[in-house]
Amino acid sequence: MRVFNFAAGPAVLPEDVLAKAGAEMSDYKGSGMSVMEMSHRSKVYQQIFDTAEEALRKALQIPEGYKVLFLQGGASTQFAMIPLNLATKGKAAYVNTGAWSKKAIEEAKRYIDTDVIASSADKNFTYIPEVPAVDQSLDYLHITTNNTIFGTKFSRLPNTGNVPLVADMSSNIASEVMDMSRFALVYAGAQKNLGPAGATIVVIRDDLLERAPNEITPTMLRYTTHSENGSMFNTPPCYTIYIIGLVLEWILAQGGVAAVEKANREKAAMLYDFIDQSGFYSSPVRKEDRSLMNVPFILADSALDADFLSQATAAGLVNLKGHRSVGGMRASIYNAMPKEGVAALVDFMKDFEKKRG
Ligand SMILES: *Cc1c(COP(=O)(O)O)cnc(C)c1O
Repeated sequence: MRVFNFAAGPAVLPEDVLAKAGAEMSDYKGSGMSVMEMSHRSKVYQQIFDTAEEALRKALQIPEGYKVLFLQGGASTQFAMIPLNLATKGKAAYVNTGAWSKKAIEEAKRYIDTDVIASSADKNFTYIPEVPAVDQSLDYLHITTNNTIFGTKFSRLPNTGNVPLVADMSSNIASEVMDMSRFALVYAGAQKNLGPAGATIVVIRDDLLERAPNEITPTMLRYTTHSENGSMFNTPPCYTIYIIGLVLEWILAQGGVAAVEKANREKAAMLYDFIDQSGFYSSPVRKEDRSLMNVPFILADSALDADFLSQATAAGLVNLKGHRSVGGMRASIYNAMPKEGVAALVDFMKDFEKKRG
């Protein structure tokens, strides 16, 4: 029996996608082999790869003038690749909205002059700070569009003028319509909203590929190495890319990201509205900055946390434990979490409150 999996990542995948991958597991479309067994240089695999890229371009409505790369090393490797490749003047600005931003900042500091121009550290990252006007001589401004641990997201993008906007979109890529032309580089680990772990998507504007990387930059950490070789300088994460393609086609079949966003807003509203009217549960996050994907919530008495978690698990609602830096619970409700999963969670929470609240 499938459970409702509220994990932050790796996370729930659409059941339709799993069924399709299952049916194609040992003989992909008459090739006589699994996608896992194929040469990445074969015609049949190239088609899988091209289909995935095309679906991503369509789903995110990526304008002309951007390359799509499928890389490895997780979103975390981008924390180094970005300053190494883009900071030709050696100076960039960052917005600190929590744990992942902090990691990006710490890594950038190893190579460049890193200016944190806005932060919500003063209130344990429960809101998105105002971003001031940026110095136009900077190499880029880095933001984290959705903060997986603290449950906040940017609802309005900062205006950066001519400074390239770089965004870690790991936990909300393809969850809501975004104007991709506002970004110069977007990156996302696949395992939150797009597929299994193992691939990192990078969407990079062509002009950034003309910047000369820091000379210490290893071959594998240069964007041009991958852009000039169709993401096949070395063996790409073949199977993960195939599943990403299936997930994107599943999104397109529903009417694209706009349709998925509508469903995501309904799911999130169901949970936040319940939490807000409850005297037992509370959300630590400022209302206008709340994530559609990751919903942290606190029980009035933390002594009940363990019981809540064990009873939820018994009811088939799993991986609700909050991150240690926030406490309480966190429900990650990515694209693939069905509405019934959120409804079941709300019912369980009501019931638990009645009995123990
Ligand atoms: C999960 C996550 C990361 C780290 O991703 P890896 O692929 O494990 O390196 C980075 N940023 C955000 C916002 C995340 O949610």
